[in-house]
Amino acid sequence: MNDCLFCKIIDGDIPSKKVYEDDLLFAFHDISPKAPTHVLLIPKKHIDSLNQAQEDDKDLMAHALLTIPKVAKQLGLDEGYRTILNTEKGGGQEVFHIHFHILGGGSMPFA
Ligand code: IMP
Repeated sequence: MNDCLFCKIIDGDIPSKKVYEDDLLFAFHDISPKAPTHVLLIPKKHIDSLNQAQEDDKDLMAHALLTIPKVAKQLGLDEGYRTILNTEKGGGQEVFHIHFHILGGGSMPFA
């Protein structure tokens, strides 16, 4: 998806503040943080939104979910954090490459 902002971030065509990467996932600081720490975790595979995730994506999505605590620990969010997954325009999604928000480091509520 050449016109996808987050695909360009994964490819390094658009700079980002990377906090985590493995074969399947990429995480970076949100450009407009809604909390003292606000990171986005995304699959390298382009999936528009949760509504477009397929049965074949089950392992990838499980891997993403189970990576969130590792990223949160790396970020020092020892007291906890909020995870948000906005889906489609009605759910507040603005960037159509599926992403988990990880927010923490201050007082709730975030975003
Ligand atoms: P959404 O509303 O769930 O789609 O969240 C999209 C998020 O992407 C928002 O929190 C934006 O601040 C963030 N964002 C948009 N463009 C960039 C960028 O270039 N780098 C990092 N984060 C971005």
